[in-house]
Amino acid sequence: MDEMRIAVLGGGPAGLGAAWRLAKEGKARVDLYEAGARLGGNAGSFETGGVRCDFGSHRLHPASDPAILDDIKSLLGDDLLLRPRHGRIRLKGAWIHFPLKPVDLATRLPPLFAASLFIDAATAKTRAPKVETETFGSVLLGGLGRSMCESFYFPYMKKLWGLGPDDLAPTLAKRRVSGSSLPKLMRKIFSSLPGLRSPTTGKFYYPRGGFGAICDAIGAAARDSGAAIHLNSRVEAVEMSENRVRSVTIRRGDEVERLPVDAVWSTLPLTTLVKGAGEAAPEHVRRAAGAIRYRGMILVYIELDTDQYTEFDAHYFPELSIPISRLSEPKSYSAATEPKGRTILCAELPGDPGDQHWSMDDDSLGKALYGWLGACGLPQTAKITRAFTRRLPHAYPVYDRDYEAHFKVLDSWISGIEGLLTFGRQGLFAHDNTHHALAMAYGAVDCLNGGVFDQAKWAQYREEFLTHVVED
Ligand SMILES: Cc1cc2nc3c(=O)[nH]c(=O)nc-3n(C[C@H](O)[C@H](O)[C@H](O)COP(=O)(O)OP(=O)(O)OC[C@H]3O[C@@H](n4cnc5c(N)ncnc54)[C@H](O)[C@@H]3O)c2cc1C
Repeated sequence: MDEMRIAVLGGGPAGLGAAWRLAKEGKARVDLYEAGARLGGNAGSFETGGVRCDFGSHRLHPASDPAILDDIKSLLGDDLLLRPRHGRIRLKGAWIHFPLKPVDLATRLPPLFAASLFIDAATAKTRAPKVETETFGSVLLGGLGRSMCESFYFPYMKKLWGLGPDDLAPTLAKRRVSGSSLPKLMRKIFSSLPGLRSPTTGKFYYPRGGFGAICDAIGAAARDSGAAIHLNSRVEAVEMSENRVRSVTIRRGDEVERLPVDAVWSTLPLTTLVKGAGEAAPEHVRRAAGAIRYRGMILVYIELDTDQYTEFDAHYFPELSIPISRLSEPKSYSAATEPKGRTILCAELPGDPGDQHWSMDDDSLGKALYGWLGACGLPQTAKITRAFTRRLPHAYPVYDRDYEAHFKVLDSWISGIEGLLTFGRQGLFAHDNTHHALAMAYGAVDCLNGGVFDQAKWAQYREEFLTHVVED
């Protein structure tokens, strides 16, 4: 029998993880197509001015599946650092250590506010308004009470998604908020106490060469195992007929090539996949694809003429008065001391193409960013030597109240097409961390044996993926 040919679409963690495991286990002949000039997708890195930068703050969380963590450790060796987390969050004008610590909460929060947070959270269940239809807002109000929701989660989520708490689906609270009730939150906070903490509590893994080094290493391992990885190769179409995938059309510059395949494993945004299917996607499927959307993000980078901006690796900004959601300093993630006299800050500015910030040029965004930081009392003494941006059109899947119905339509169409599989953050419309995207890839490969994809086993994996909760 001829070897099965699988086209893996997208070179982020999900696509790379699948290409590597498929090739390593000799399950298929693999060609991976990535539109960009580098690997890693949103979890990649790039170098500028001697500093490795990520696309927003990225950490490898110790909660990762041990098998995945072991693989990453063996690929990166001593270049995978275990670093202490040293961030701050701004709550009611006060800076609190993040992740939250009991002592810091008790001593730094305004005492009346701290008391109201606790009492409110403790009585939240009994005081939560009865609602007919659950929303993100009602779930969190019932779990954490009004003070915590109004001072932190509601403005933060409005900033991230551009939607109010009652316009967001209840699923978002389960997937995106790991401390969504008082007991869960307390467990998280008190796990930092001596005696209760594990060797990795309050720490994160981070590669010396930037977060993208994880995907670069997986990409190299995939190539070594025989997978062909094609950069600058945009998937323009996925041809299907009689409910089966037939070929993919790839564009490289002016060159367009149509390649026959036995299977397509797509990690592309669902909207891109449906567009690529053209008329093969029925009208109701195209309508559903038109009704889901991904939230974009501008990453605003400023280069400063100083060794280090602050001692903190990241600052979190839930308040709506400042448009960015997070600020990170890449040198602090890897404890880099070079280059001297220069550092870069990366700010995450959620938004959508066409909105107020999206049309601003890089210098104006850089200046605006420094102004926002100053308004929060952060230093403005160093000089900005350069400002630049990267724009992510697919940062977060938007879980509005109707998304689930539209996603179901897309999912059921995909599962009816032989040889077509979607997974990863964009492919399953999932809020996830990199280790979750890799877990999806490993799961998919485990389901393929002797050229046959075990749909029942995949359904079990899909149930497991629903339990993934994002770590910040
Ligand atoms: C701001 C931010 C912070 C994050 N922080 C963390 C963190 O701290 N820790 C963590 O573990 N995770 C974090 N994540 C999540 C992490 O980035 C994702 O889990 C991961 O990137 C998902 O991988 P993926 O392969 O599923 O998708 P993606 O990374 O989105 O990869 C999809 C790939 O498909 C490619 N593609 C798209 N269209 C085409 C086309 N037509 N043809 C060919 N290729 C195409 C894209 O270029 C991209 O490379 C963060 C995400 C964001 C946005």
